[in-house]
Amino acid sequence: MKYALVTGGSRGIGRAICIKLASTGYFILINYKSNEEAALETLEQVRQSGSEGQLMKFDVSNRSEVEDALGSWQEKNPDDYIEVLINNAGIRKDALLIWMENQQWDDVIRTNLDGFFYTTRYLLKEMLIHKYGRIVNVVSLSGLKGLPGQINYSAAKAGIIGATKALAQEVGKKSVTVNAVAPGYIRTDMTKDLDEKELKQHIPLNRFGRPEEVAETVCFLASEKASYITGEVISVNGGLYT
Ligand code: NDP
Repeated sequence: MKYALVTGGSRGIGRAICIKLASTGYFILINYKSNEEAALETLEQVRQSGSEGQLMKFDVSNRSEVEDALGSWQEKNPDDYIEVLINNAGIRKDALLIWMENQQWDDVIRTNLDGFFYTTRYLLKEMLIHKYGRIVNVVSLSGLKGLPGQINYSAAKAGIIGATKALAQEVGKKSVTVNAVAPGYIRTDMTKDLDEKELKQHIPLNRFGRPEEVAETVCFLASEKASYITGEVISVNGGLYT
């Protein structure tokens, strides 16, 4: 059995990634923070895709929760390792910098950037020992271009992009690849308060994307087919950033 962990797998883009990865035969570890009902729905859809999975509840921004959850999985599965890690969990708390509160800064940096660090550091060791691993980080157009009202989110995602490029160089010799996918506007809970009608006028493909369209690229980078791609950031944004 080959194992993949998807952080933030209960909803949106993470759920679509779980389902797509399941269809390629992976056992899916579905991480979520609090929405167990949604996580169970993802698990149901993983099973419908012909594979198996399990829920793994932890807050990616909490180092001890990450280490406890992953440590106890490894203890129960001493002969296995997680060969695919999709760092997808993320939140946004938008405000102009001048009005931004400490909590809005801290929450977004901790969940998006610290979460990437804690989870990746824990799982990397086994990937290196087994000389195979795939790490895909879900970042954002905001981390490439910078978006006003999102300096916390832009900084966190740009931070992960830098880390993706650096880590790719650290671990390439062990056949571990590290890449990022940068979605534009994708129709999920995260974007449900946005005015799609207005925003789509600026998108060459004239619509928001679907989570499945992001999952396709993520799963390609997580596959053996992407064996000579590392340190890359691939945009899935309908042509918005050009
Ligand atoms: P959603 O808000 O739909 O889902 C967020 C997911 O992340 C949920 O599964 C949620 O779990 C989980 N999550 C949030 N905080 C934590 C945490 N601290 N620990 C563990 N899990 C957590 O988001 P999207 O699917 O839209 O976004 C997924 C990723 O894509 C994010 O990184 C986001 O920044 C990025 N992205 C999204 C874009 C979009 O347009 N939608 C555009 C660009 C990037 P729970 O259900 O338990 O709350």
